[in-house]
Amino acid sequence: MKVLIVEDEVRLAMALQQILTEAGYEVQTVYHGTDGLCAAMRQEYDLILLDVMLPGKDGFTIAAELRRQRIKTPILMLTAKDTVPDKVLGLDAGADDYMTKPFANEELLARIRALTRRQTSAVPEELSFGDLTYRTGNASLVCNGKEVRLNYKESEIIKLLLSYSQFILSKDEIISKVWGYDSDTSDNNVEAYISFLRKKLHFLDSRVSIIAIKKQGYKLEYNPC
Ligand code: CA
Repeated sequence: MKVLIVEDEVRLAMALQQILTEAGYEVQTVYHGTDGLCAAMRQEYDLILLDVMLPGKDGFTIAAELRRQRIKTPILMLTAKDTVPDKVLGLDAGADDYMTKPFANEELLARIRALTRRQTSAVPEELSFGDLTYRTGNASLVCNGKEVRLNYKESEIIKLLLSYSQFILSKDEIISKVWGYDSDTSDNNVEAYISFLRKKLHFLDSRVSIIAIKKQGYKLEYNPC
């Protein structure tokens, strides 16, 4: 689970980062509103912890802009202001939940769990093709009784290939879905991750392979014998 923290109070940001890291989340922290918006648009996160009063762009503006760009990452807004109009403004802008500082760590973690559960419930627990199964819960590939863990990008790419196993996926499609539509990631990066995935399929002795179709893209292929 990847969390983006956008918070300009450095001590609070560091405390949040520590709480979430200890709870097992992968955390990225930025201290400026504009950086927060850029990060949220460039990368896919499972949750954004968004302060309201920020330099550059405030939290309401960031939430509204992300929703306008159809980025649906759950947003938990953090603010020192405890007034009803602010809460309404945050939720109207596209935030999913709201917490007023100071807050208890347990409550923060519970709300994060609730928001990320809501999002992941739509994702199937397993995706399968041929002798290969991807398990969403622990981001692993399973085959022949063997299991191998995948990193975030490998997971996103194999999920795409498994979800659209009857289609050829172009490098551009993979880049826009995994890195974001305005990413400047190169084709080489896609090739590198495909090569990591191939090594893992080889390790699993899977009969599924990722085949490259010249000038078109990638597709999964299953050779049962
Ligand atoms: Ca602030």
